[in-house]
Amino acid sequence: MRPVVDSHCHLDLPELVDDLPGVLERMEACNVVHALCVSISLEAFPEMLRMVERYAKLSASVGVHPDQQNVREPSVEELTRLATHSKVVAIGETGLDYYRVEGDLDWQRNRFRTHIRAAREIGKPLIVHCRAAADDLLRIMREEHAAEVGGVMHCFTETWEVAEQAMELNFAISLSGIVTFKNAGNVRAVAQRVPSERLLVETDSPYLAPVPFRGKRNEPAYVRYVAEEIARLRGATADEISRSTCANFFEMFGAL
Ligand SMILES: [Zn+2]
Ligand SMILES: [Zn+2]
Repeated sequence: MRPVVDSHCHLDLPELVDDLPGVLERMEACNVVHALCVSISLEAFPEMLRMVERYAKLSASVGVHPDQQNVREPSVEELTRLATHSKVVAIGETGLDYYRVEGDLDWQRNRFRTHIRAAREIGKPLIVHCRAAADDLLRIMREEHAAEVGGVMHCFTETWEVAEQAMELNFAISLSGIVTFKNAGNVRAVAQRVPSERLLVETDSPYLAPVPFRGKRNEPAYVRYVAEEIARLRGATADEISRSTCANFFEMFGAL
């Protein structure tokens, strides 16, 4: 069983944090050698960083999720300063979400621009969340020269055309447990076409558990099921998917 990496999880959320020793043990048992814990607010960041500092197989990002309202707004200076920490390997998660948040979303677009500017300032890749907002998202990425640092389109659920444009902007495509859902034809089609040097796998745990755990709590050990399903869809072996996604991860986020 080849090593595999979970490129996106939220181990500091209540569903997982109290079970951290168990989560890490099951990662070990499944040869999930690394997990990137993704920041969603500045309020929660210090505690998440303290957790990540204790384990070599965990790293962190810093950022404020586009769904988060009534939280402290980040500045380029603050994100840049927090991202100098050696365990912080990326800026995010950031992006746009027009599905879960309504009303005038200028604040969301401005927050996204702030993250891209911070990423360019510090020279670390971006973790981008996109829901029902692909046109604006790609436009802002172009306007802000996000290609200079690149990064990952996490939990990708957009069309192949959006994937192509994101890859042109130096972004990788990360697939989650959604790829195991039989009704996710769009994502499964993208999984068959993304070049292997642009592919990452993730759990987005505690959400989006892959089949056969759909609807249950998700955790990094289950990233294997994501890799296995992608392998099936591509007519590849799970080892091949593990190897390429692992290499892509360490190349993008540095030797951890
Ligand atoms: Zn997300
Ligand atoms: Zn996330």
